[in-house]
Amino acid sequence: MHFTRLRLSGFKTFVDQTDAPIEPGLTGIVGPNGCGKSNLVEAMRWVMGESSFKSLRASGMEDVIFAGSGGRPSRNHAEVSLTLDNSARTAPEPFNQSAEIEVSRKISRGLGSLYRINGREVRARDVQLLFADASSGARSPALVGQGRVGEIINARPDRRRRILEEAAGVAGLHARRREAESR
Ligand code: ATP
Ligand code: MG
Repeated sequence: MHFTRLRLSGFKTFVDQTDAPIEPGLTGIVGPNGCGKSNLVEAMRWVMGESSFKSLRASGMEDVIFAGSGGRPSRNHAEVSLTLDNSARTAPEPFNQSAEIEVSRKISRGLGSLYRINGREVRARDVQLLFADASSGARSPALVGQGRVGEIINARPDRRRRILEEAAGVAGLHARRREAESR
């Protein structure tokens, strides 16, 4: 599975509808300071179910909504969608029937987040599990943030093991087991 398209609207600096195709191979994002490169990567993390606003450099989840600048008024919604190519049918159940998977997340002021997978409303957990499972395999949508290498080196053994499990793709299995046990 790999990412093929990222669409944003009202997310941080991306006030206008932005549609970015993601070609196979290496993609670089270039631009002057403050143009939104990091915001773009944060949008990817956000749509994959990031629940910590602090790690998105925000002081509340609604801070990801365009706050207004340069005479343009603020928005009331932010939406990001990420399309995955699943033509090899490697996505976990119950999503492996479709050749393309579109995951979207929308936040509205005062109403919180709404997640969809291929148009169907799902829980945040479903999106997190989809990506936790998808992190297995060579083309995994793994994200390595700045400072992560140092974090791995300096981590205590149990923490380091969790990072390695995440990279190996077994984190999704553990999360499912925990969810099953808590029922
Ligand atoms: P650098 O090269 O310095 O790393 P960058 O291209 O990564 O820069 P970002 O950090 O992605 O830039 O963007 C920072 C800009 O995003 C700031 O100007 C900040 O004001 C703006 N920004 C962040 N959140 C919002 C928001 N909710 N609404 C409008 N603008 C926002
Ligand atoms: Mg940056």
